[in-house]
Amino acid sequence: MSAAPSLEQIASCVAGYDPNALPVAQAQEFIARLVPRVEAVESVAIRSALGRVLARDVVSPIDVPAHDNSAMDGFALRGADLAADGPTTLVVAGTGLAGAQFEGPVPPGHCVRIMTGAVMPAGLDTVVPQEFATLDGDRVTIPAGVVRPGDNRRLKGEDLARGEAALAAGRRLTPADLGLLASLGRAEVPVWRRLRVAFFSTGDELRSIGEPLDAGCVYDSNRYTIWGMLQRLGVDVIDMGVVRDEPAALEAAFRAAAANADAVITSGGVSVGEADHTKRIMKQLGDVLFWKIAMRPGRPLAIGRIADGTKEAILFGLPGNPVAVMVTFYAFVRDALLQMMGAAPQPLPMLRAASTTALRKKPGRTEYQRGIVTRGADGGWQVAITGSQGSGILRSMSVANGLVVLHHAQGDVAAGEFVDVIPFDGLV
Ligand code: AMP
Ligand code: MG
Repeated sequence: MSAAPSLEQIASCVAGYDPNALPVAQAQEFIARLVPRVEAVESVAIRSALGRVLARDVVSPIDVPAHDNSAMDGFALRGADLAADGPTTLVVAGTGLAGAQFEGPVPPGHCVRIMTGAVMPAGLDTVVPQEFATLDGDRVTIPAGVVRPGDNRRLKGEDLARGEAALAAGRRLTPADLGLLASLGRAEVPVWRRLRVAFFSTGDELRSIGEPLDAGCVYDSNRYTIWGMLQRLGVDVIDMGVVRDEPAALEAAFRAAAANADAVITSGGVSVGEADHTKRIMKQLGDVLFWKIAMRPGRPLAIGRIADGTKEAILFGLPGNPVAVMVTFYAFVRDALLQMMGAAPQPLPMLRAASTTALRKKPGRTEYQRGIVTRGADGGWQVAITGSQGSGILRSMSVANGLVVLHHAQGDVAAGEFVDVIPFDGLV
């Protein structure tokens, strides 16, 4: 990590960089330039690879399928034997089952009863589904026009040809990918090692579950939303609890986090005018910037590197408000952690939905409003905002099923106008 560019060097590469009014896109670009990828690769059994990031391309060692085979239950025949007009009658020479192929020659004018997945007998290239064929003793009659030469046959290598890249490095493996790997006979795959992420909450008003809620205090909810979001990313989490607003406690926590984790996420203590010690200790232990991002919710963000001796970690100092924590996590931390995990960046899928109401929006900042997406009467998507959008109202995230993204340059939205929505499914 030490050969990495300084924050100042990164800032000089980001067009329009202004730490006091940073557009979301510039902040994302900055972070993408800042974060390193883990270095170690390990080999894991394919079931343990679900959600892990592939470290090397996987090239198919075989043709999948390995042989031409039938896509239907029916009769395999020679396309050339089909009568040009009128029905075709063929003699059944035997049966081919999946896993027990028909051996032996099939003379012209003959066919083979065949099951789905069974290897096509040599010389035969077409399958007529059984519902179209009439069997009478050892003879099968096929009406004209129900099948053309080559129909209902899966070709050798049509899924994957031998030597073809089946999966590219940087892919987060899905259930489909595990099946694909199994179809290649792969027992193990090389993946990047798991990312270690430490997190803690700051603020003397915070109480942990199980403690009495003293006057003026709130239960620490950020630790639970952050924990949940990190679990979904498949990282190793180190929950460091609530850290008191005392310099020695904060310094010990940041040092331990830098020593043990690749990334450290804190919440609270980074707002402008914050009286606590969090910002000072962050600065003291590393190279950290304090941004005001042109977004709502979630304006303040601390970003940089902190160190314990020579061991560095990336720092994400999120705001304290519970909704701001989740929104800044999705806007900045999620992609950054995926990049650190070795994943190739993928834009989040969005859908376009008609806003059920007019929305007020100031150009010059990105807003993330909580929305409930449903099917409208016309069958298209529509989205309703979840009432008050205060950044402390966590229930707005809980009842929402997506984030309405009102982009930087966008202004007021009229009722019925289409807006972009990031669905929570697969995200939260
Ligand atoms: P801060 O950014 O530290 O000024 O915090 C902003 C607001 O978020 C304050 O009302 C805090 O009480 C609240 N807050 C900060 N951290 C947490 C937390 N871990 N859980 C719930 N609320 C929090
Ligand atoms: Mg605070």
